[in-house]
This record gives sequence, C-alpha cells and structure tokens, in this order.
Amino acid sequence: MRHIPGAWQRTARGAGLLAPDGSSVPTIFAEMSALATATGALNLGQGFPDEDGPEAVLDAARAAISSGINQYAPGRGFPDLLAAVAEHQQRFYGIELDPQREVLITVGATEALAATLLALVDSPDDEVVVFEPYYDSYAACVALSGATLVPVPLRWPDFQPDLERLASAVTDRTRVILVNDPHNPTGTVFSREVLHEVVRLAHRHDAIIVTDEVYEHLVFDGPHVPIATLPGADERTLSISSGGKTFSLTGWKTGWVTGPADLVSAVLAVKQYLTYVGGSPFQPAIAVGLRLPDAFFASVASEMAAKAALLGTGLRAAGFDVSSPAGSYFTVVDASPLGATDADAFCRELPARAGVVGIPLTAFVTPEHRSDYATLVRFAACKRVEVLQDAAGRLAGMTLE
Ligand SMILES: *Cc1c(COP(=O)(O)O)cnc(C)c1O
Repeated sequence: MRHIPGAWQRTARGAGLLAPDGSSVPTIFAEMSALATATGALNLGQGFPDEDGPEAVLDAARAAISSGINQYAPGRGFPDLLAAVAEHQQRFYGIELDPQREVLITVGATEALAATLLALVDSPDDEVVVFEPYYDSYAACVALSGATLVPVPLRWPDFQPDLERLASAVTDRTRVILVNDPHNPTGTVFSREVLHEVVRLAHRHDAIIVTDEVYEHLVFDGPHVPIATLPGADERTLSISSGGKTFSLTGWKTGWVTGPADLVSAVLAVKQYLTYVGGSPFQPAIAVGLRLPDAFFASVASEMAAKAALLGTGLRAAGFDVSSPAGSYFTVVDASPLGATDADAFCRELPARAGVVGIPLTAFVTPEHRSDYATLVRFAACKRVEVLQDAAGRLAGMTLE
C-alpha cells in the first residue's frame, strides 16, 4: 500500500474517500452498477437516464463541432449561454440577472458545488449546514475545503426537516446553508415554511445560502419555487443547476451558478483553477435547450411523474412501504416489511431476489447516522417506461427470503 502523506489523507479519509488502510473506496454506486451488469438485474441504482435528450439539443452540439466551436470557451462561458441562463431564470422565475456578472458556466453542478464551497469556507470553524441524507459530493467537498459539516436530519416518510432542529443547527459559525430542492436522494420538495426558515436563519447569522436545483424541472406538482425568489434571499443566495437532469444529458456536464456578482466572482476565482472551462460544443447546445418551448419543460415533469407512479406501483406490489416523491428522479422505500434490517446487505441481495438494483440510503449519510436510515432504499425512476414496467413486474413477483 502506497503511503499518501499529509493533510490530504486526513481530509480524504474524513470524507470517506479513503478506507482506514489508505486504499480508495469504490462508491456504492459503482459497486451496485457492477452487480447489475454481473447479474442482469435492472439498474435502478445510479440516477442516469437510459435515453438521450431532445434531438434539437443533440443536433446543436453536432453543429457546434462542425462549425468549429472546438477551442477554449471564455472563462465565464460563451456569452450566448450566459444570456440563455439569464433568460431562463427570468422566464420561469422572474429572476433578473446581468448575464456578464451574475452567471457563471461550470463543468456540471458538481464543479459548481466544489468551486462554491472551496470559495466560501476554509477552516474547521466554518460550518456548512446540510440536510441529511445528502448528495454524496457535499460531504466530500466540505471535507476537502477543511470546513465542518453540520447535518440536519430529514426523516421518513415526508423528509421535511424539523424547524427547531434546523434553527439550532444554524449559528454564527455557519458560513453556508446548503439546500437541495427538489432533493436527492429522498425526492422531497421542501415546504415554503422550510424555505422561509432557511432565509430567516441565513439573515440572522449572516450565512450564505447555496442551493442545488438540478431537478428544478422535475417537480411533479409545480411550479418549482427557487429559494432565491423568497423575500430577502437573492442578496445572499448562490443558485446552482445543470443541463444534465433536465435534458437527460448527464454526460455533458454543463452547469451554472447564478447570484450576486461578488459571490459569483469568488466562485470563478476557484473554478478557473479547477477546470478553467468545460467542453465548448456543449455550451451552444445547452443554450438551445434552455430556450425550448414551455411544452418541452412541462412534458419533462409530467413524464417523470408518470414514471415515478409506475415505479411506486411495482414497489408497493413487492411489499415495500413507499414514500411519495414530489420531484427528482428518486423514490425511497422502507424495506423493513420485507424483513430488512440492514439496507446495505438487503441491496446486495436484491438483484438475486428481485432482478433490480437499488441504493441503500446509508450511502448518503455520515457514518454515525447510518443506523437512522438502516432499512431505507432509493430507486431511480429515470428509465424508459418499458424498463420500469419490467421492473414493476419483477418486483411484484419478488421471491421472499
Ligand atoms: C446529479 C446531481 C448533481 C450533479 O450534476 P452534474 O451536472 O452532473 O454535475 C448535483 N446535485 C445533485 C443533487 C444531483 O442529483
């Protein structure tokens, strides 16, 4: 085993990136995807669609390559995409942005999150409040930035945070309140009350709100309400999104950050040394996507709602307790009616028992809190209808232990 010296090893271990013996840990997503391939099970684990996004967007990327958009983009992004993001925020939410100063194009929402956290926090005294379970990169980025993660639990079955618990987690040490709405992995959409409380607490303790809204167009009973549109929020909110989930183009890794010019510049200062810029031909294509007619965006939401309903029917037939997602790609179930006591072990057996793959919710929590989520499993509905019908059938005929 090669010894990796110094602070990086500590932070990486803290973030769960390294095992105690120093080896790197394959993520549960990689492990479960490999299990799906090995067993022929349907992969409802990792959240990527199994069909490509709109033809007009695909064509625009091909045209961009043919027309020579193949060298570095400007650091903030091509002006046309900056303008398209600003138009999108105005069109859907009434948010006015200066495209040159208040928008930044990133390599997916992932880079936007990493650059934002690295820009805003840097010592163990800096606290980042997150809702737990959380998207796995949050804890890793907080650890890599050297700050302290302060999780606020979301509990089965509605996964709305307790407001008192939230209020006690936010203090004058809180630099960032990190929101993800609609929420991965739970499929919840935060209530207005929760969003208002986040804004109130951010004001009271002078914290910055960072909001990851990659599922903004996958709210089943819309419209989506960005936290930045609440009174008093815009001056201290950085909003992050990406074309990956909206356009079923997760491999394109084209995202953006919007918000006050000084905060966006701080993110740019870090981002320019992470990747400098992303893939140029994707930028004009995502601009085409953002300008698609309303009917496209409405169909994205209604199709995903129908898929979640189909998946839910299969999961109920299998005997799971099923939560009701309000958005995103995901549905969470409680597997205890099927005898599960340890979702990790249950998910490892599931391909053989049911021919489908899910992800234990313990993959999205800090190690000390795993027991609070020990029987919960996340399934992804972002697959073709035929695949979901097949999965529902397999689940309904699931073999009992
Ligand atoms: C998929 C996802 C991301 C990553 O988005 P990219 O644009 O692929 O980097 C970020 N946050 C959440 C909650 C996600 O589900």
